[in-house]
Amino acid sequence: MRIDIITVLPDLLEGPLNHSIINRARKKGLAEIVIHNLRDYTTDAYKSVDDYTYGGGAGMVMTIEPIFRIFEQLKSERNYNEIIYTSPDGESFNQSVANKLSTLQNLIILCGHYKGVDQRVRDFLITREISIGDYVLSGGELAAGVITDAVVRLLPGVLSDETSALTDSFQDKILAPPVYTRPADFKGWKVPDILLSGNTKEIENWRHEQALERTRKLRPDLLKT
Ligand code: SAH
Repeated sequence: MRIDIITVLPDLLEGPLNHSIINRARKKGLAEIVIHNLRDYTTDAYKSVDDYTYGGGAGMVMTIEPIFRIFEQLKSERNYNEIIYTSPDGESFNQSVANKLSTLQNLIILCGHYKGVDQRVRDFLITREISIGDYVLSGGELAAGVITDAVVRLLPGVLSDETSALTDSFQDKILAPPVYTRPADFKGWKVPDILLSGNTKEIENWRHEQALERTRKLRPDLLKT
């Protein structure tokens, strides 16, 4: 899978996408993540990518020209399944959206800034708009990082244990069960006996019960769907 991320602040993304599981996925060639600086696509002498709002009002708006130029460049090189704009008024990002995106071949993610992008970018160039929550960030970089992380870890071969992503929270529309590691007894706080029993069938049943119990308690809304 290839993900092209377009931003005015590439440094903000290099860090989060250059560590741990995502970095390993990149190194193994399972995910190609390319971060582009939008300023490289402006013809403006000052490398500016924003301008005043038509009709007046506070805040700058990202202009359409450099965005159009980089999209044209990328689209001439390969076909993209989705051209995503990160936006607080977009479709809510969740595990089911991450699962769907992880089956695609090529994605573009455009990070907004300032007051956002010229509406014509959204009307004519973008195929999907995604929000990572009902709050406003200063830019789309953290949202692009969240989306990329959640999607890339689902790609086959990225997590060492193939089943690992499948037992995470939300995959079965329930939360994950509690997990424990050594020591079995810490200051009298004990690991449940069942996990030390070696009985895989019973451990599996216990985990399922715990996952349901936790979901009932913390996220009953998930069980309604
Ligand atoms: N004026 C806009 C917010 C602009 S915030 C509004 O009120 O809707 C600047 C940029 O940050 C946005 O263009 C978007 O790309 C990004 N952003 C902010 N909050 C976000 C969120 N919850 N999810 C995804 N992207 C977000």
